[in-house]
Amino acid sequence: MRIKITIRCKHCGEKFVLRGKREKGRIETGFKQCLCDNRDDFIIEELPV
Ligand SMILES: [Zn+2]
Repeated sequence: MRIKITIRCKHCGEKFVLRGKREKGRIETGFKQCLCDNRDDFIIEELPV
């Protein structure tokens, strides 16, 4: 199932819009980290494509 995902960094406020897919209850995006080196602290929103 393909989905669109918005990731907002809680540290610097940077926003990323990515395409990903939902597999077995978890979301795959390939997103690694923010520009500010934050890897864990994000607000993740799932959007319908
Ligand atoms: Zn950031």
